[in-house]
This record gives sequence, C-alpha cells and structure tokens, in this order.
Amino acid sequence: MIASLQNVVAIDGPSGAGKSSMARALAKKLEILYVDTGAMYRALGVYFHHQGFSLEDESGIAEKLSHIGFEYGCSADCLVKVNGEDLTQQIREHTASDYASRISKLEKVREYLVAFQRTLSDTRTCVVEGRDIGTVVFPQAFCKIYFTASVEVRAQRRFQQLSDKGESGLDIDKVKADIEDRDKRDMERENSPLKQASDAILFDTSDMTKDLVLDNLEKLVREKALQAQLKIG
Ligand code: C5P
Repeated sequence: MIASLQNVVAIDGPSGAGKSSMARALAKKLEILYVDTGAMYRALGVYFHHQGFSLEDESGIAEKLSHIGFEYGCSADCLVKVNGEDLTQQIREHTASDYASRISKLEKVREYLVAFQRTLSDTRTCVVEGRDIGTVVFPQAFCKIYFTASVEVRAQRRFQQLSDKGESGLDIDKVKADIEDRDKRDMERENSPLKQASDAILFDTSDMTKDLVLDNLEKLVREKALQAQLKIG
C-alpha cells in the first residue's frame, strides 16, 4: 500500500489558482492519470441536495453513503456517476461549488472519498488535485505542489470560466465574494482544512502565463520522479 501511495503528484490549493487546468495538462504530457477530487465532492453535494437531504445531515448522508454506488472516470464523456446517475454536467454549475464546500465538511463523507481516492493510485501513477491531497490523502506523494494566486486573479479566472460555459446573470463581485467564502470554509473547517503541506512547493500563479507554469511544473515533477526513482512518461 505504501509503495502505491507514493506514485502520486499531489496538487492542492484554493479554487481558481490554476490547479485543474495545470494538473490536467501535466497528466496529458506525462501520460499519467488525472484525478479531480473536487469533482467527487461536487457530485456527492449535487446528489444529496437533489435527494432532498440537508447537507449538514451527517448521519443521514453517512447511512445512505453505505448503500450507493460511486463511479469516477466511467468513460470519455462521463466523469462521475452517483448511484447510476451521470452528474458530469451538473457538477460544473456554480451552485455545485457551494454544495461541495458544505458536504466536504462532513467527516464521514471525507472518509468515504479519501478511501475511494486511495484505490485509484493502486496500480497507476497519478496527478491528484484537491485540498487535502498532500496533507491527508497521499502524505507520501513523491511530489507535492501548492498552487495559489491573488483573490482578484482567481475571481477573474472563475468568472471567465463560467461565462465561457454560458452561465448568465454573473457578477464579478459576487463571484469574488463566493470564492472568499469558500476559501474561509475550506481553510477553517475542522476536518482536513486546506493548507500547504510542509514539504509542498509553492507556485503563485498570479503573474505567470499558463505555459510558464506548466513548464516549471513539468521540470519539477521530472526532477522529483528521478530522485524517487520513479519512471514517468
Ligand atoms: O476543486 P473544486 O473547486 O472543484 O472543489 C469544490 C469544493 O470541494 C472545494 O471548495 C472544497 O470544499 C471541496 N474539496 C475538498 N477536498 C478536496 C477537493 C475538494 O474539501 N480534496
């Protein structure tokens, strides 16, 4: 188990810092698996909200969790299914961020998803992105990175992303306020709060182009893989 836990590039940081796009691009370059753990919290948040649960109802959610099916990376078009329901599109709506941030406070939900996430690296090298990857899920990861950027830059990126997807009625100040709320909740929660692991390398992407971030990231991961004697693409 320990050996497989090491096959991981752990990427953490607040939303809009560039984690997802960089983690995805890195995985493609290195031909390794990309795992988006935020998508998992989003899927459970959306699922339980639709089922009429209060997202604070830990015992009700925990009871139901023991009976449901959870699938990740089902096909090229389907990222995540809960109890057979494909939630790939719905998890990208703005409201899903809030459901995810609320449900992710629950200890039982975190235990369930952390166990699931660990199984994904059993046989493959992965880039895993989230909030607690280097601190809790894969503390032995061979390479840990913490992404950040100023809240203004992150709000602008998120606003652009949502507009590109055609979400209407958006207001940049509201997007910024939502990000600040979510940061606060993620950093101050009792269970696995968002923080930089002591051995993670900080990337502040506020003033960096995507190409520069990706170049630096790839160099760092290759260097760390060499040190850990891991073969990557
Ligand atoms: O990364 P993304 O913005 O999709 O994550 C949505 C929410 O899921 C985060 O704000 C956070 O509350 C939660 N999350 C978490 N732990 C992770 C990944 C996401 O608590 N590993």
